[in-house]
Amino acid sequence: MKRYALITGASRGIGRAIAIELAKDGCSILLNYKSNHAAAQEAKRLIEEAGGEAELMPFDVSQPDAINAALDAWFTAHPDDYIDVLVNNAGIRRDGLFVFMSEADWHEVMSSSTEGFFYVTQRVLPGMLYAHKGRIVNIVSISGVYGMSGQANYSAAKAAIIGATKALGKEMAPRNITVNAVAPGYIATDMTADLDEAELKKTIPAGRLGTPEEVAHLVSFLCSDEASYITGQVISIAGGIG
Ligand code: NAP
Repeated sequence: MKRYALITGASRGIGRAIAIELAKDGCSILLNYKSNHAAAQEAKRLIEEAGGEAELMPFDVSQPDAINAALDAWFTAHPDDYIDVLVNNAGIRRDGLFVFMSEADWHEVMSSSTEGFFYVTQRVLPGMLYAHKGRIVNIVSISGVYGMSGQANYSAAKAAIIGATKALGKEMAPRNITVNAVAPGYIATDMTADLDEAELKKTIPAGRLGTPEEVAHLVSFLCSDEASYITGQVISIAGGIG
């Protein structure tokens, strides 16, 4: 039986690296993204080059109707399958000092994080419960652990998911489903491309940004059988920050 892994925001950056790593682990990848079809096709090609398989599943994680439509279609086409691994990775940042923050910047960052987590996870969980087996990994951020100036929206969005991870981890522990959060520090992706790398490095004990592949290896471990006793945890991967 195939082991399906759904990774949100997998067309680029950390999500793409996770998708490639989980494909190498033998998962059949459901590759979610919002709108960058070319990047998604390239991610699919890289997965296939690594010997894996992937199907594209575009939807906006902040739109419940779009989430339900995409997942309903998949479950209808796969009546005997379930999604064994879910990585809630899609996320955006819209930084700015809180006093000047627009409603749109608050809501867009919050909804891509919390709506995505709620609707995608709730739709995927019943299959895991029926199979008595599953792995959920939520990609949060050290910003949600410690708070960062200019990121009240992003820190709040990630902290919300940290709370949900801890609660759901406890709920699911008796059912052989683990729920963990991975909190990256600064990782070299499109999301951090606008930051001053030289200045940033001075604040990172390791003296460099992390790579998406380093995050992907951690996620791969958390999704493995060997990690079956780790749940409800927030694991930082931040080059010594914290
Ligand atoms: P990225 O390079 O900007 O890639 C973002 C990915 O998310 C893309 O695949 C994008 O799809 C997708 N996406 C964005 N909004 C979406 C939506 N509403 N619905 C569906 N997909 C959506 O970001 P990244 O750096 O890899 O970050 C991935 C995750 O790690 C995020 O949750 C981020 O908060 C977290 N994180 C990143 C860092 C870092 O330093 N990079 C640090 C801590 C935490 P399209 O290609 O279609 O736009």
